[in-house]
Amino acid sequence: MTQGCAYNTAVEMEQIDRWLGEFGLDRWVQDHVAVVFQNLPDDVRSDLMDDPSFLVCDYSPGPQVTLHVPVRLTPGKPGRSIVLKRTIKSRPVPFARWVIAHELAHAYLRHGGRWPMEDPEHAADSLAAQWGFPKPLNW
Ligand SMILES: [Zn+2]
Repeated sequence: MTQGCAYNTAVEMEQIDRWLGEFGLDRWVQDHVAVVFQNLPDDVRSDLMDDPSFLVCDYSPGPQVTLHVPVRLTPGKPGRSIVLKRTIKSRPVPFARWVIAHELAHAYLRHGGRWPMEDPEHAADSLAAQWGFPKPLNW
């Protein structure tokens, strides 16, 4: 079964890469988003990847930059977007991956908690840690 698993993983990685390729992200950012997606539980990954109104975008912040967050509109479904600053490229990798996982957790939870009254920030950090991307202690 080891071979089967390796095959599935390679196919999965290719699918994730092709799917992320549509968003036109910076290559470095895309590679780290891909790593986080590979580590997501299957149900979370398909919740995001199978949602035609979900998208990922990135931008370089600056004084002259006005960000227009693209939103995909699908009848009857609210758009879900995650926006990443390219400045994460200058941060340590564990920090960058935690930011990505944290934002994906918000999208997955639709900016709510895992249960009523849970703080959405706490929920996003807990999920990110559960997926293997804990908030770095020092940054
Ligand atoms: Zn947050």
